[in-house]
Amino acid sequence: MAKCDLCELKQYTQWYCRFDYPFPFTILDCDSCDTPMAVLGEHRAAPTEDERLFMTEALSLIARKKYGDDGFVIDGVMRQIPDHCHIHARPIRWRMS
Ligand SMILES: [Zn+2]
Ligand SMILES: [Zn+2]
Repeated sequence: MAKCDLCELKQYTQWYCRFDYPFPFTILDCDSCDTPMAVLGEHRAAPTEDERLFMTEALSLIARKKYGDDGFVIDGVMRQIPDHCHIHARPIRWRMS
């Protein structure tokens, strides 16, 4: 079974929540971007549509609290670890820098 940094999440950044149901995923601050991200609890690149919507919704709750209702964008691009599904919530100013 493939292993990567997102399979073995280290608890040295802020963790917001961990879901076990309806499917496992964790929301925590990304240690390279310092923004909240949702990480699927399984090592695969593509979430199902349901999984993607659910993770985005949960991540948006956290991001709204942190950046305000219109202060963030959901970024599904997987730059560093392209084979393990994760979604970032980035503050708007990140795009402009
Ligand atoms: Zn992985
Ligand atoms: Zn990141």
